Amino acid sequence: MEALFWFLVLVGTPIALAYRRTNLATSTVVIGAVLVAYTLFGDGWLVKLVLWILFAGLALLNAKAFRRDALTRRLLAVYRTMLPSMSKTEQEALEAGNVWWEGELFSGMPDWGKLMSLPAPALTPEEQAFLDGPTEELCRMLDDWEVTHELADMPQRVWEFLKRERFFAMIIPKTYGGLGFSPLACSMVLAKIASRNATASSTIGVPNSLGPAELLLHYGTEEQKQRWLPRLATGEEVPCFALTSPRAGSDATAIVDTGVVCRGTFEGQEVVGIRLNWEKRYITLAPIATVLGLAFKLYDPDHLIGDQDAYGITAALIPTNLPGIEIGRRHFPINIPFQNGPTRGKDVFVPLDAIIGGPKMAGHGWRMLVQQLAVGRGIVLPSNALGGAQAAMYASGAYCRIRRQFGLPIGKFHGVGEALARLTGLAYIMKAASRVTCAALNAGERPAVAAAILKYHNTEMARQVANDAMDVHGGKAIMLGPKNYLARNYESVPIAITVEGANILTRNLIIFGQGAVRCHPFVRAEIEAARDEDRARGLDAFDDLVFRHIGYALSNAARSFVMALTLARFTNVPSSGPARRYYQHVNRYSASFALAADAAMLTLGGELKRRETLSARLGDILSYLYLTSMVLKHYRDQGEPLEDLPLVEWCCRTLLYRTQEQLHGLLRNFPNRAVAALLRIAVFPRGRTYSAPSDELGQQIAELVINPTATRERLADGIYKAPDPENPVGLLQQALELAEQMKPIERKVFEARRAGVILAEDTPGQIAEAEAKGVLTAEEAAAVRAFDDTVMALTGVDDFDPSELGAARRRGEREAAAASAGA
Ligand SMILES: Cc1cc2nc3c(=O)[nH]c(=O)nc-3n(C[C@H](O)[C@H](O)[C@H](O)COP(=O)(O)OP(=O)(O)OC[C@H]3O[C@@H](n4cnc5c(N)ncnc54)[C@H](O)[C@@H]3O)c2cc1C
Repeated sequence: MEALFWFLVLVGTPIALAYRRTNLATSTVVIGAVLVAYTLFGDGWLVKLVLWILFAGLALLNAKAFRRDALTRRLLAVYRTMLPSMSKTEQEALEAGNVWWEGELFSGMPDWGKLMSLPAPALTPEEQAFLDGPTEELCRMLDDWEVTHELADMPQRVWEFLKRERFFAMIIPKTYGGLGFSPLACSMVLAKIASRNATASSTIGVPNSLGPAELLLHYGTEEQKQRWLPRLATGEEVPCFALTSPRAGSDATAIVDTGVVCRGTFEGQEVVGIRLNWEKRYITLAPIATVLGLAFKLYDPDHLIGDQDAYGITAALIPTNLPGIEIGRRHFPINIPFQNGPTRGKDVFVPLDAIIGGPKMAGHGWRMLVQQLAVGRGIVLPSNALGGAQAAMYASGAYCRIRRQFGLPIGKFHGVGEALARLTGLAYIMKAASRVTCAALNAGERPAVAAAILKYHNTEMARQVANDAMDVHGGKAIMLGPKNYLARNYESVPIAITVEGANILTRNLIIFGQGAVRCHPFVRAEIEAARDEDRARGLDAFDDLVFRHIGYALSNAARSFVMALTLARFTNVPSSGPARRYYQHVNRYSASFALAADAAMLTLGGELKRRETLSARLGDILSYLYLTSMVLKHYRDQGEPLEDLPLVEWCCRTLLYRTQEQLHGLLRNFPNRAVAALLRIAVFPRGRTYSAPSDELGQQIAELVINPTATRERLADGIYKAPDPENPVGLLQQALELAEQMKPIERKVFEARRAGVILAEDTPGQIAEAEAKGVLTAEEAAAVRAFDDTVMALTGVDDFDPSELGAARRRGEREAAAASAGA
């Protein structure tokens, strides 16, 4: 018994100290005191001897000079050999933006106060008025079938409206004639438009994202801003930004488009300028652009602007009416016909002040792009994805209520309910992530890793939502035509997946790659210390950092182990409500993640960059923890409504379960098996104990969306749901509300059928018989008949005369016939 007591004291004390992150000096004193007590009152001289030897080592670590010279110097030499090689462009990409909540998750001990003190997102009255006014009106004007099938473009009246209402100028400050909206407002406007029409939201997204306006605002000279921004704001100038070329897609720094500094004539005057040659593709708005933001590599062989031969990637603004520019042809992006196309330039001469920011910004193009993309990718694409998912959720819930098979609304079948629960839960996560991250952006944060997480996960979740929505709709979603409100959204999904950093690359390289350097509390500073040319200063700084880092890693091991053993029941979190356990699990997995990340970096070093699947798993874990936190904060921002709790539980359980499984996958694939075994003890001492959401929880969620509930409305908040005759999503909601009212009437018909009073098989026949036999009054019969007509209209699909399809083929046949008649 006594031996057990001492064992617990001797093992428990260092674990408790590490768990609480007690510093080295205090820990040494406390452990020394425990050892003295054990020496005086405990048994076993050999154990005492070993412990005192270990303690002597610990005590020596407090002697900084000894530690630095005996240990750190060697550690630093090894560390330098492990540093990943990093190009200047990679470094610029890694350094973009700042660190926000992701950094807390990386610490293994998140300070929830930092997240919870963030004000709930709110629009200004002016932004709200824009959402309720011009945005609502725009949605009303957009006819998806007209845009995607009949015109393969938005109609002229829509283009004019967009320019007049300054939809292209949401990010341009009012001083330059723009709307000067916050990130939240941009996000909500885009999500609403995306809930109606993907072509319009893609078109509007580009000028409000990484493009000429954004670059001018941050890097342009005042003269350039005055020249371009007011005309971009009114739509007089239509911008595009051209980076991608046929040989350089994801690896955009490999562009071979060139600008050579030389003398030439511009507007009748001999000036020093740039002769440009380029070939670009996939450029959104290029076919109609009047000003082209161009990324190219700048060379100055005659040293006309400095003493360098080559400056690297540079960004310039090129009016598209200059001689030598080929522009106007269109690509056809997967049936979402926003303006997108190639552009080429042959010996196009522009003056030096075409460079954004002027000649001093020569060679800074890549830094400019990645810095803006670092934040921008968290707004436009995630918001477009969110709007599509919200609309799919809203429509699917109602459809599954009014569509009956086997005598029941299809949403009542558990298989359909499972898909409904998934698409609803994912839509909730997407909304939470968008709203809370935008609130952080509104508050001035610039979280690059969070933006990458949103870009990847919102667009991937949108893919799953689109698939599920298609499945629960069956054939209704497959038959294209004006009545199909889902298929174009489904088709649009790969666009957001591909642009602004294609998703495979974003998951495998960016999220953890950038997170490890930017969010880790020590890694970046250690790298800087290791690269410090003043070796003595570097050693001093490295010594301090590396021992704090070791303490941090030990602490994470202790925290992970203790919280895994206790299922995190005793960790402090800022909630005593029903969501409390999810906060606690985030704490637990944050410690496990920080430990695993450290172990991966320590054992693999620069090799981790090439082990993409390991990096991807670590990125997933960080992402799931980030998204769980967003769900919890969003729930709190909404006042923690009890009815939404099943949804919050589903989201948190799904994300935390995936966290556990990715941790497990990481350990299974961890190259150093001995380290993997130790990690498994610290991370899963009781095995994998966390469960995915239950089937029953899924059914509760299905009920929340196939009925006209407050939860359903809250989740669809912000989408276009006006019940106008052209908007099936709004009409479905009306039908859903009617379905509730029809319940007692339908019940009467059902009972009469069961009693053998009504014999007809089809619904219209049953209604007629019920009226004739007095089961229903005339008003009841009329109401239920009208409801049935509504259901048949909403579940109906389009059909076409053969001559209405295959227009191009027929035109060719006609032209051939005319040609042969002429001959
Ligand atoms: C509709 C649309 C609009 C666009 N608009 C613009 C625009 O306005 N301006 C502009 O400049 N560009 C634009 N683009 C280009 C877009 O940014 C590129 O398509 C994107 O960068 C990917 O390049 P890629 O298509 O050549 O694919 P690739 O680079 O060939 O990549 C193919 C696949 O390989 C993966 N991959 C590549 N390298 C790695 C790696 N190291 N690790 C893991 N996976 C990797 C990618 O993730 C992708 O899945 C647009 C593209 C589309 C489709």
